[in-house]
Amino acid sequence: MPKADYPPEIQRLILHLKRLQGVGPRSAERMAVALLTGKSGVAMELARALEAAAQGVVHCQICGFFQSTAATCPLCESPERDQTIVCVVEQPTDVIPLERTGAYHGLYHVLGGRLSPLDNIHPENLRISQLERRLASGTVREIILAVGSDVEGEATAHYLGDMLAHRPTGAAPVTVSRLAQGLPAGGGLDHADDLTLHRALSGRRLV
Ligand SMILES: [Zn+2]
Repeated sequence: MPKADYPPEIQRLILHLKRLQGVGPRSAERMAVALLTGKSGVAMELARALEAAAQGVVHCQICGFFQSTAATCPLCESPERDQTIVCVVEQPTDVIPLERTGAYHGLYHVLGGRLSPLDNIHPENLRISQLERRLASGTVREIILAVGSDVEGEATAHYLGDMLAHRPTGAAPVTVSRLAQGLPAGGGLDHADDLTLHRALSGRRLV
């Protein structure tokens, strides 16, 4: 006797949920079943929200943060932000915890990852040339490296520090600093609490 299984539609949903980072087969199954047996309309609302987000959100061409296609970048286009400081982060999600501290009012530059030769992530795979182009305008006076404190984060900070120290002759001088120690080792900024980040920002040290 063949064993009964979920209908193909549910199996397909489980398959897609399983692809999400951090979602195992059991949780994917639970999520799929909860969505389909939950309050009526929840699944369709989620489907519509997902479609709208997937179609309506891009990355800002300048800083790399999320940007709604219906609006300009909330960071780069803000007249209240200090245009002379750029905080370099690994991921767009790193911007949120820094913003929540309320201690930073400059601009950002999202690298899109960190150097990791073992995973085949080299300088050309990150938004490093875009950073160099931003600096060419001469407006930026300070760069804060807010990358992780694990091995790959250190390697990325070292590479960027070196690159910024060897800028072409005649280029406007740029001060380079790193967030003070105290950030969780190996973790992204989203694991750090407000106070730790606030201290890390105010105690940043020159590279
Ligand atoms: Zn932007």
